[in-house]
Amino acid sequence: MTKSGCLALFAGSGLLLPGSLPPTSKLSLNPPELNQPLTVLPGVGDATAKEAGKLGIATLGDLICHFPYRHEDFTSSRKIGELKWGEEATVSCRVERVSLKRTRRRNLRLVTAVVGDETGPMNAVWFNQDYLAGRLKPGDNLLVRGIYDGPGNSFRVKSHEILGGGEAGLHTSGFVSVYSTTEKISVKRLRGWLGRIRPLGGRIADPLPPAMLARLSMPLKADSVLSMHFPRRPADYHLARRRLVFEELLLLQAGLLLRRRILEGNRTGVRLEAEGDLTRRFLSALPFELTPDQKRVCAEISGDLMKARPMQRLLQGDVGAGKTVVAVYTILRAVESGRQAAMMAPTEVLAEQHFFSLQRLLSALPLRLAFFSSRLTPAERRPLLKRLAGGDIDIAVGTHALIQPDIAFARLAAVVVDEQHRFGVRQREELAAKAARGGPTPHMLHMTATPIPRTLALTLYGDLDVSTIVKMPAGRRKVSTWLVPEAKRPGAYRFIREQLDAGRQCFVVCPLIEEPDDAGLRAVETEADRLGKGEFSGYRLGVLHGQMPAAEKKEMMGRFAAGEIQVLVTTTVIEVGVDVANATVMMIEEADRFGLAQLHQLRGRVGRGKHRSYCLLFGDPRTGPAEKRLAAMRSTNDGFALADLDLRIRGEGQLLGERQSGLPDLKLARLARDREILMQARREARALLEDDPALARPENALFKDEINRAFSDSLDWLGRV
Ligand code: ADP
Ligand code: MG
Repeated sequence: MTKSGCLALFAGSGLLLPGSLPPTSKLSLNPPELNQPLTVLPGVGDATAKEAGKLGIATLGDLICHFPYRHEDFTSSRKIGELKWGEEATVSCRVERVSLKRTRRRNLRLVTAVVGDETGPMNAVWFNQDYLAGRLKPGDNLLVRGIYDGPGNSFRVKSHEILGGGEAGLHTSGFVSVYSTTEKISVKRLRGWLGRIRPLGGRIADPLPPAMLARLSMPLKADSVLSMHFPRRPADYHLARRRLVFEELLLLQAGLLLRRRILEGNRTGVRLEAEGDLTRRFLSALPFELTPDQKRVCAEISGDLMKARPMQRLLQGDVGAGKTVVAVYTILRAVESGRQAAMMAPTEVLAEQHFFSLQRLLSALPLRLAFFSSRLTPAERRPLLKRLAGGDIDIAVGTHALIQPDIAFARLAAVVVDEQHRFGVRQREELAAKAARGGPTPHMLHMTATPIPRTLALTLYGDLDVSTIVKMPAGRRKVSTWLVPEAKRPGAYRFIREQLDAGRQCFVVCPLIEEPDDAGLRAVETEADRLGKGEFSGYRLGVLHGQMPAAEKKEMMGRFAAGEIQVLVTTTVIEVGVDVANATVMMIEEADRFGLAQLHQLRGRVGRGKHRSYCLLFGDPRTGPAEKRLAAMRSTNDGFALADLDLRIRGEGQLLGERQSGLPDLKLARLARDREILMQARREARALLEDDPALARPENALFKDEINRAFSDSLDWLGRV
């Protein structure tokens, strides 16, 4: 069985809920036959079974969960006697005679077959498909789609299907399912197998509680599964799909909620005091007023901090939305309650930047900050560890190395984690467990500057509360974005030189470091060389890329920030964290190669000061999605709008795939399309668990069983925490 949670087919595995029902497998009404390997089907040997494995099909249960990705409509199928002149139609018929004809026109050969049904014969005609003359045999059942040309009873065939004997109805009547296949397992073979196990499908038990089904007027699972494969009308299929998508999402949401509850049950947090002196002093010393969004988010966080239950909150906000202030607020709340706080970033460079901005923002307050660099020598590190363990450091900043086993905090109460989008559910939980180290779990604030659509947030971060800074601080200017055709390149350089002459600075981003031999990619070193001798000769250029030693990187960033370097030729290493208000041009080479989130992050490096800023995108989008991405960049500066577009362009497969470790796969659900169903599933999951927190009622037993199965991986893992 693939890890889909798609059917309540087999006995439940690990028990999710502590101290509740005995294992529920005995209650399962599923036909146990679905547990059998594919080889029980006639004509399926080991080789075929192995091939089917490529489709994720090992058992009959997997087979029945192998849903079609589309359906072909044969309901317009007509009798020969009913055809009208000029009409396009599908006809099911039997081959009587076949002939190959050459015509007087060169290069035009016709295959003609006399075909017939009970209403009479006609001449089906194919152009230039000689091989068919040998393939079609009198007596074959044939399905043809084409145009009826009346005179001579001739039918111009556009597409056809040669049907085997006996199973004709399966392929030609009503809506025919089309499946993903392999070279050796044809659609017809799959349909044949499915036709055979159809009766088993009709006996599948329903994991959804009967009362819920009735209230939502949803069809039964067994009927839905059959309708997916053998719909009579499009409406059947849509209803069935909706039902199965709902189940998938309900399982996911309920599982996430349960898991969160279990974690919380096992953990105690630290109840922090109400806002105190430090936060007040910090806020009143800021040169600006918090935006309404920042205020709201701080209030949400404040509410969490005063509860004994540890906070698990995601803070979403576009680049420049002002998340840092909120992070500092959270940190100060811990410190003024006599506790310690930590701030972590995924890279050393980013962590260091956070350290400097904290130092700057907090310079007026009596706080003890420390940066835990990975470059510290043991001799430098030892006293820091001692101070941390002794409670003589209030705020520790570093990478995730901060929560390694040899680092002990005296009274850690709050952790801010930046760029959390790089982590999945599992890593987040691991982080919380590590930070707790047996003691109380600190409040955790996860920050991400890559906005994601709400649907995705609910799925990826179903275990978190989500706070969002939607509106930017006032006075932000939109970065003007242009797709620059190659012919206008000289003009673009001229424009950049004007900006440089006016005292501004510029980024040039290239996709690769080294010049590859084939593609004309502009590699950083080569491009910097070229620009220095050409378009930007006489200007001060610098190079920055990921392969440089950290010290060199840091030096280069420092020189750019100080204005000593005017043009920084770089890779995406500058994607996060670089804050140079004087930089006004972001020029991106081969922009079609970057993802939308990445492009948006890169663009966020400019427009941070008082000057008007520009983003110049070069590149030749050769694919539809690349073209859409660039058009999207041009159309909006809003990270959330872009995230929605990204979801539509890419589908969530990739987006989820990158981050979903620990979550069951979504087999049918498509988040961009199934948003409504997701919201409904979320509501229903909440209500269900409120009503029956341990899913202990008999009518919820199968559902509980399914959650166990769908989340089994992550539950194993939970057991080890
Ligand atoms: P990000 O969300 O990307 O971390 P920052 O916290 O770095 O954004 O904020 C970007 C800039 O906006 C900083 O220079 C910060 O001082 C400024 N800023 C933050 N909040 C406000 C506000 N309420 N009003 C004006 N400027 C603000
Ligand atoms: Mg930031």
